[in-house]
Amino acid sequence: MATLLAIHAHPDDIEFLAAGMLAGLAARGHRIVIATATAGECGSAESGLEETARIRQAEAAEAAALIGADYRCVGFPDLGVFNDDPSRRRVTELLRQVRPDVVLTASPADYHPDHETISLLVRDACFAAPVPNYHTGEAAPLETIPHLYFCDPIGGRDRTGARLEPEFGADVSATYATKAAMLARHRSQVAWVSKQHDTPDNQAWLRSWAERQGRAFGVPLAEGFRQYRHQPYPTTPLLQDLLGAALLTPIVQA
Ligand SMILES: [Zn+2]
Repeated sequence: MATLLAIHAHPDDIEFLAAGMLAGLAARGHRIVIATATAGECGSAESGLEETARIRQAEAAEAAALIGADYRCVGFPDLGVFNDDPSRRRVTELLRQVRPDVVLTASPADYHPDHETISLLVRDACFAAPVPNYHTGEAAPLETIPHLYFCDPIGGRDRTGARLEPEFGADVSATYATKAAMLARHRSQVAWVSKQHDTPDNQAWLRSWAERQGRAFGVPLAEGFRQYRHQPYPTTPLLQDLLGAALLTPIVQA
């Protein structure tokens, strides 16, 4: 059985982009850890920083527990994730503690600075985690660089509005109810997403995105992913193999 660490910027990002795939992998006995760079404490117009952080971490832990996953928060400030030396060491220490075979993170190009920066930090932490002289804390260095994958950017577009297409997909038609239930645990975000993103129904947003990716792969509901293959990162299709029958390849347009 494999260990998969899914680390994104804020509570509910993983639910939007990858929870259906994670639910399928968890049901097949793989160990899943969901982590966020921040507690998402800026995501409220009603409660202050500390209370919002507490509420959102509790919601994220509840959502993860629905698939038997652990939840971890790195503890960077919301809208304050930066690619610097202390931050890279903290993310590397998390990797060394979790010891994943597969790491899934944000798209390097996305709509939000925290998304893009945690993607950079995680990519470089994967490289640093096996390096013995890179000191981070109590956990021992990894044996090897883990397999690294990126989620879709939110809405499938980078910050210039350019579209980014997935390399492969996971069919989440059978696990969609669990994905939706995980998002529903983020109760505090219903009002916030409506206000900040002008989206009155975040469940409808979730569904429309899964349907859009489903059309790209010829199934009802899907999530899209890309593998990072630059040397010396592993290039074998470990996550694709773990997906088995849920693995999807894009429909080639004539
Ligand atoms: Zn986010």
